[in-house]
Amino acid sequence: MTDFKLISDNEWRQRLTPEEFHVLREAGTEPPGVGEYTHTTAEGIYTCRACGAELFRSTEKFDSHCGWPSFFSPLAEGRIIERTDTSLGMTRTEVLCANCESHLGHVFEGEGYNTPTDLRYCINSISLQLEEAE
Ligand SMILES: [Zn+2]
Repeated sequence: MTDFKLISDNEWRQRLTPEEFHVLREAGTEPPGVGEYTHTTAEGIYTCRACGAELFRSTEKFDSHCGWPSFFSPLAEGRIIERTDTSLGMTRTEVLCANCESHLGHVFEGEGYNTPTDLRYCINSISLQLEEAE
C-alpha cells in the first residue's frame, strides 16, 4: 500500500496536473465560481483527488453561494486534518487530507448558515473527485 505521506514533490508532479499540484501540494486556491463541483448536487462520495481517500458526502454539501463547494461536515472524524493557517495576513483554519496531507481548502465557523454545524468547509473542486452513487 502506498504511503502517500512519503511521496516526493517530483512524484506528485507526475501524478497530478499542474493546476492540481498547485492547489493540493502548494496550498493554492482555485478562482471562485469556476470549480466543476461548485453547484453539483449529484449524490455520491467526494474523494481526495491526490490519493483517493473518501472525504466528504453529497448529503453534507450545501449551497453557500461562496463560489466553492461547501460542506457542513466531513465524512467522518479523522478523514481530514485542521491546522492554523496565518498566510495572507489572516488567521484561518486550513483543511488537509489526513491520508496524504494535501491541501483541500479552509473551514469557517459561525457564519450563520442554516446547517446543523454552523461550519463551512470551503473546499476547492480541484482537490476533490466525485464518485457518483449508482
Ligand atoms: Zn489525500
